[in-house]
Parts: sequence; C-alpha cells; structure tokens
Amino acid sequence: MSKILIAGGGFAGLWAAMSAAATRHRQNAHDIGITLVSKDTHLCVRPRLYEGARPEMLVPLQPLLDAIDVTFEHSRIAAVSSTALRTETGVMMDHDRMILAMGSHVAMPPVPGGAEHGFVVDAYKETAHLDAHLSKLNTNIPGAPALIVVGASFSGLEIATSLRDRLGPDATIYLIDQQDVAGQSLGASLTQEIKSALDRANIQFIGGEILTQVTADQVVLRSGREIDAQATIFATGLRPSPLVKGMGRPASDGRLQLDRNLKVIGEIGMFGAGDIGIAAADDTHKTLMSCQHAMPMGVVAGQNAVLDLLGHDLRDFAQPDYATCLSLGMSNAVFTQGWDRTIAMKGTDGAAMKAQINEKWIYPPTPDVGRDAIFDAILPSQS
Ligand SMILES: Cc1cc2nc3c(=O)[nH]c(=O)nc-3n(C[C@H](O)[C@H](O)[C@H](O)COP(=O)(O)OP(=O)(O)OC[C@H]3O[C@@H](n4cnc5c(N)ncnc54)[C@H](O)[C@@H]3O)c2cc1C
Repeated sequence: MSKILIAGGGFAGLWAAMSAAATRHRQNAHDIGITLVSKDTHLCVRPRLYEGARPEMLVPLQPLLDAIDVTFEHSRIAAVSSTALRTETGVMMDHDRMILAMGSHVAMPPVPGGAEHGFVVDAYKETAHLDAHLSKLNTNIPGAPALIVVGASFSGLEIATSLRDRLGPDATIYLIDQQDVAGQSLGASLTQEIKSALDRANIQFIGGEILTQVTADQVVLRSGREIDAQATIFATGLRPSPLVKGMGRPASDGRLQLDRNLKVIGEIGMFGAGDIGIAAADDTHKTLMSCQHAMPMGVVAGQNAVLDLLGHDLRDFAQPDYATCLSLGMSNAVFTQGWDRTIAMKGTDGAAMKAQINEKWIYPPTPDVGRDAIFDAILPSQS
C-alpha cells in the first residue's frame, strides 16, 4: 500500500485531502492510503476571526475525513523530511508522497514587551484569549485607556473596524502603522474607502510610526509618544510555519518555492500548498497567503500527489483570477476584482458579499452530503 501524508488540517490540507481522495476514487487506486495529521481537531476559519472567536468558526475534521476514507491523526508535528514525519511524541510516520500544509502564524515584530503583553488574532485560541480580555474591560468611560491595533493592512483594518462594532462608540481605538497611509500595501484604489471608513468609525490612524515598547498598560512609539493602552493587538503580517525552515529553496518571506505542479523545489516526493509555499498564480503574479490561494493549491497538490504515485502526468496550478473583500465594519465592506484591486462593490452590497464568502464559500462541504457530492464539489469531474 502506498502512503500519502498531509501535514496540516487547514484550508490547504483539508482541500488536499478531499482532492486526493476524489482522485484516488476516480483512478480506482484503492491501494493508496491517505492520512491527514494535524495538531487541531478542527479546521479554523481564520478569515472570520476578526469578528471574535465563535464555535461556528471551527469545523470538525474527523466526520468529513471519515466520509472520504482519509485517516485522521491528531498529533503535533515536530519535524518533516522527504522520507518521514516525526510527531511531538516521537512517532515516525513514513510516506511515499507528502503534502506540506502547516500554514502560517502572525509575525510578531521584535518589540520589547510585545510577546508578553501583545495579543494576536491568529488561530482560535489566541482570538478567544483576546475576547476574554476585552470582555473584562470597561472601554466606554471617558478617558479610558485606548485599544491599539498595530498594522493597518488587511487584517488590522478588519480587526480595528470590528472592535468599534463590538465595543461601542466611546472606546478609543488607534491604528498604528509604519507606513504613512492606512492600507497602503493594498494599493491606491482602496485608499479613499479606507480613510472614509476609519473616519466614520472614529478610529485614529497614526502613520509613519513603529512601536518601541509594549507594557500591560502602555505603548511607546519611536517618536517618544506614549499612549495608555488596555490592549495592544498585533496584525503585522503572516510568516510560514517554522517547520519548513531549512527545507527546499525558501523565498525572501520564508515560504517554500513550489514549481508549477506544486512540488517543493529542492525536495523529493514533496508537494506544498497554502501559506507554507509560494507558486506562480499566473504569468506575472505569485500566490499570496490567503484562503483563495490555499484552497485551490490544496486541490491541485492533492490531485498531483495521487497522479505522481500512479506515474501519470501532473496538473499545472494556475489561479489567474484574484479578488479581495475587505470588511470595514458597520455593515460595510469593499469587494475588489483583479490584481490592481478595482472596486466592484462597496457598502452594504460589499458587506453582503463578505458574509457570503465568510459564511459559505470558504467552508468545506458537510459530511452528510455524502462522499460523491464532496468529491464533485471539490473536484468537478470534467476538470
Ligand atoms: C485574522 C486573519 C484574517 C484573514 N483574512 C483572510 C481573508 O479575508 N481572505 C483570505 O483569503 N485569507 C485570509 N486570511 C489568511 C488565511 O486564513 C490563510 O491564508 C489560510 O488559513 C491558509 O491556509 P493554510 O491551510 O495554509 O493554513 P492554516 O489554515 O493556518 O492551516 C494550517 C494547519 O496546520 C496545522 N498545523 C500547524 N502546525 C502544525 C504542527 N506543528 N503539527 C500539526 N499540525 C500543525 C494547523 O493546526 C492547521 O490545521 C486571514 C488570516 C488571518 C489570521
């Protein structure tokens, strides 16, 4: 029996499992065993966490994997190599093909006090920890210390505007970024919408600043400015799992470079998908650390792992279409299309689109629809 190991049960890993199982079924390759290893028993719908941690953001893995005959191994991975995977308890799992899909974590900048006193909206546990802290604060008394969000890109903007919705009109909220303009990295097409949304939500943007110190009740900025703070939340970008360090040929942001079939360049028998890897999305653009890339990368990596074992031609990965939907609080979101982020929808229409994406499109099929419907949803037969 040949073995495919999938390391990680997030968007890339789960979609890889469903796609590998569909390909195995369609190729009548019933002697291929597929195992998914994850430290978490659930898929965490990370893009929704800016709303606060809620149970519907956790999708149990076991029932879905049972429905498609994929073995679930609930373990924390300590190391991976081209021949084996080692769990934290020392169990070695060998494989014929492996799909790396251990995802990413929020990259905390090396600010003194940041790791001890800072919060992140990253996985469920960290978000629930922030929620518990927020629930103890009284933010609505005049002059109460502020809430600070560090990083005014996609996640920071969603977190800051959602805090306004969650904490009410009187909380003092600052959004701080080293760049001069809020959302600068998202491109000029969004600048005005973001500025208007921050003004409406009375969120004070401080640009061109970095934090030099964080304590339990204060942040200090490079200019020397001190701000009393009840919570400091870092939304300072994502870094790939440290488990891929030392492997393959990493890009400047630490992600492993993947070829057009999503094989890890420089490793044997290994595919990559999601935030741990970077691949060409089209002739000029690379994949981003996002669900909209993690899911289709998982589909192609899962399919190719099976085809590779069978000695068949592999499928090329391509994702030329690109869209974003940025929540800006108060029933407002901006939906953009294309790599230049042309605004296609905003306001309540944008918010309806965001709800559709967050509550439907990024969820896997439910196990009760049955194996064949799961396979057709993930890998339509004609593709
Ligand atoms: C706050 C926030 C907002 C976001 N908003 C958006 C958005 O609006 N749109 C969008 O497209 N993307 C968004 N993203 C990014 C998106 O969530 C990620 O790109 C996506 O989750 C990547 O999928 P993945 O499978 O690569 O990694 P993950 O979903 O992170 O999954 C990684 C998996 O690996 C497992 N794992 C990790 N380490 C180990 C280990 N040592 N042992 C065993 N298992 C391990 C984890 O348990 C998990 O199952 C957001 C992310 C965050 C944090």
